[in-house]
Amino acid sequence: MAVSLSSVDIVGAGPAGLYTAILLRRFFPRLRVRVTEQNPEGATFGFGVVFSDRALDFMEHDDPEVHSLILPEMESWRNLTLNLPKERIVLDGVGFTAIGRLRLLEILSARAIALGAEIRYDRAVTSLNELDGDLIIGADGLNSVVRQADNEIYQSEIKFANNYFAWFGTEVRFETLTQTFIESEHGPLNAHHYRYENSMSTFIVECGPRTFESFGFNKIGETTSAQICSELFAHVLGGGSLVTNNSVWRRFPKLWCERWHSNNRVLVGDAAHTAHFSIGSGTRLAMEDAIALVRMLDSNETVENALMAYDANRRAIVRKIVTAAEASANWYDQFSEKMAQSPKNFALDYLMRSGRMSKERLRSITPEFMKQFESK
Ligand SMILES: Cc1cc2nc3c(=O)[nH]c(=O)nc-3n(C[C@H](O)[C@H](O)[C@H](O)COP(=O)(O)OP(=O)(O)OC[C@H]3O[C@@H](n4cnc5c(N)ncnc54)[C@H](O)[C@@H]3O)c2cc1C
Repeated sequence: MAVSLSSVDIVGAGPAGLYTAILLRRFFPRLRVRVTEQNPEGATFGFGVVFSDRALDFMEHDDPEVHSLILPEMESWRNLTLNLPKERIVLDGVGFTAIGRLRLLEILSARAIALGAEIRYDRAVTSLNELDGDLIIGADGLNSVVRQADNEIYQSEIKFANNYFAWFGTEVRFETLTQTFIESEHGPLNAHHYRYENSMSTFIVECGPRTFESFGFNKIGETTSAQICSELFAHVLGGGSLVTNNSVWRRFPKLWCERWHSNNRVLVGDAAHTAHFSIGSGTRLAMEDAIALVRMLDSNETVENALMAYDANRRAIVRKIVTAAEASANWYDQFSEKMAQSPKNFALDYLMRSGRMSKERLRSITPEFMKQFESK
């Protein structure tokens, strides 16, 4: 027995909002589902996003249509490369997949519209009084207006990572997901880089506050930042350059809410929680929130019970992944000190950064690297 609803308003057409719209229209074909997005159609921030190699498994059985639309568009690879100042280390078996953020949103929005959802672009929601749905879903990301409307109920907390990062792109194609760590005249920097289309890659540059200030990244525009970083990482860019898309330097915001619903309003995705990009999970978590919410609406008789069940069950699951993401963010905050280790010790430290990995598990995940590490 499912809840009885006639209309739902979703704020935000990111991965969480669009996937919620798709599932609602699938499970409740008579429901009016309306998504309101502040950006014009086709505009978004950032470049590509990665998923761990089996990260789309969650939709393979439940949603083979969307799975089969996304999968062929993904880049994938089996190994991860660590470029360290003194050595290049291949971590065999540490696979990832990636897709352009814009392409993912195009696929999801086309599917949502085909299923009968309405998407209103170029319209920022400034007050929840503008919405008349029986249920209001806050899929509006970090600065969620839905969350801010009942902030004391959600008990949100934001802490910031110490490091600064800027999210660039490049036409250089990288063969694997690569982490490049360099020393420079102003201190150490790191780049997370991987291709997400045949000839387009994400290139996120990160550094500690001292390096950030010494370069004066806080005083220069994104184009100059991109030029400086292109030169710093010239050895991996092979003469290619970095391009920008609102690539401002900032600290990663670690958001957590103790409660995810309030009356007929509920939060999904980054509106409720963020997960540091170094574990490649934010988008997957956002889409899995959508699944958890719609399943609860489908299996409870009242909206109140459904939201309570979603809040309690899903929050506990996400907490574990967010804790791992925080451990990973903390590792990156200390990467400059960690670079004093030997390359192989550094690589093992990197692999164990989320606190969820043991040497035994690593022996089966990355056997070649562990063989080299243990015979050194
Ligand atoms: C540098 C960086 C790299 C990342 N890399 C990865 C990665 O590799 N893999 C991964 O899985 N995740 C990654 N993430 C995280 C990922 O981007 C988010 O977790 C994911 O986008 C969350 O989806 P969402 O739909 O909840 O929120 P969002 O994607 O933020 O979407 C929210 C939407 O709501 C809209 N909106 C906001 N306010 C309003 C309003 N008032 N009215 C109307 N619309 C509104 C916004 O315009 C936006 O379209 C990264 C994040 C960062 C910052």
